[in-house]
Amino acid sequence: MYLKSIEVNGFKSFANKIDFKFNNGITAIVGPNGSGKSNVADAVRWVLGEQSAKNLRGAKMEDVIFAGTELRKPQGSAYVAITLDNSDHKLPVDYNEVTVARRVYRSGESEYLINGTVTRLKDVTKLFFDTGIGKEGYSIIGQGKIEQILSGKPEEKRELFDEAAGIVKYKKNKAATEKALLSEHQNLSRVNDILSELE
Ligand code: ATP
Repeated sequence: MYLKSIEVNGFKSFANKIDFKFNNGITAIVGPNGSGKSNVADAVRWVLGEQSAKNLRGAKMEDVIFAGTELRKPQGSAYVAITLDNSDHKLPVDYNEVTVARRVYRSGESEYLINGTVTRLKDVTKLFFDTGIGKEGYSIIGQGKIEQILSGKPEEKRELFDEAAGIVKYKKNKAATEKALLSEHQNLSRVNDILSELE
């Protein structure tokens, strides 16, 4: 699995539609200070479901939408799509190519799409469990991230190792099952209460 392309349109400094194409191997993005290199990484983080404007170096989520310049009008929406080669089927879907997209409007309305189908953030997160690619994954190491990991809490470090070991999906399934079990126990005790009242 590898990142084949990133499409951005109206995201941060990218006023127009731009397609970044990557080959299997190493790609370096170079450019002067402030030219938008980190905005490319922000675009990937955002499409993977980042919910914190601070982590995207903004004050509010609307800041991801192109804000305009002296010569250009602001955009009304931001769109990012990443396409991954999945011919090794590391992502648990049948497709050889997976495109994940996210769009947000100034009104706050937003949507996620997987291969063109509107989906929930939950499904995007689930798609990337144990691949290291999710927004909390280790595939995006931004400035200061290494230091943050080294000085982070033991639980945070543990999360990183869980992801690398491929056990996140089992832990999430376990937590969801335990929650469902608890709710069933509560239902059962309510039924028992009613039964004892009737007896
Ligand atoms: P450096 O090498 O200094 O780290 P960089 O190439 O990584 O810089 P970025 O930090 O990606 O640059 O881009 C910063 C630029 O993006 C700034 O010029 C900023 O004005 C612009 N920018 C950020 N958000 C928006 C937005 N919503 N609308 C328009 N421009 C934006």
